[in-house]
Amino acid sequence: MIGVGAAAAAGIPLGLPPLAVLGAGAVLLTRRRSLPFTIVAIVVIAAANGMPPGVLGTFLTGALLGAIAPDIDHAYGLVARASARALGAALVALSCAATLWTPNVPAWAAALPGAVGILAVLRPSWMPLTLWIYRAVLSNPLTWLFLGRERMCALVTHRKLSHTVLALLLWTAAMVGGLWVLAPWVPPAVWPYLGGTVSLVERVGLDARTGTMLLWGYAVAVGYTSHLLGDAATVSRIQPWLPFSDARFQVLPSPLLLRTGGRH
Ligand SMILES: [Zn+2]
Repeated sequence: MIGVGAAAAAGIPLGLPPLAVLGAGAVLLTRRRSLPFTIVAIVVIAAANGMPPGVLGTFLTGALLGAIAPDIDHAYGLVARASARALGAALVALSCAATLWTPNVPAWAAALPGAVGILAVLRPSWMPLTLWIYRAVLSNPLTWLFLGRERMCALVTHRKLSHTVLALLLWTAAMVGGLWVLAPWVPPAVWPYLGGTVSLVERVGLDARTGTMLLWGYAVAVGYTSHLLGDAATVSRIQPWLPFSDARFQVLPSPLLLRTGGRH
């Protein structure tokens, strides 16, 4: 909810009507499991506000990808659970393929990945694929060499390195970089509908493709920042300057900090 509010406020300078962002954000919060409903609702809200649905879609998707990313460090985070379910589905598919097309594989061996996959779908926090990847990438020999084992292990625990300004910059760069890599495959005529017609982009005189990139990066950064600010309003606070400084940061006076059970 903090994220949707932040996105609505952040969209104002770009010329995005805050009510449209709030409405579409509310749809994302309540019906995030039903993609067709979400798409239809966003199209309707955008049309009612006289804007291309793609602009609202780009902005909200970016903000969402920014807002859920920091909790990659947690087995119960949205990213970890979604990746575990995807891993589970892939393992079930592998089992089916092994059963159908490789007669020499014994039945128990073909069924094994499927059983693990079903477990991953039912108990996603047991197999948080993205959390493993996150830890594996950070726990490389170079980090070990520069920071030492103890500090390296401490940095990958919950609310450490992924809840920092450094991670915000890296994730935003990665998301913009990802779009930049995909850009050659996007027909030029599509860009104006994705973000190129935002009023600020038109005022500054950017082309539609650069405008979309900026809108996308801005949205990701806004989503990520809103997550960090939300966590900085809780009792465990955040350490935004890691790995350079251990200083803690909070957005509320200590007696007002929220208790969330430390999950997010
Ligand atoms: Zn968090």
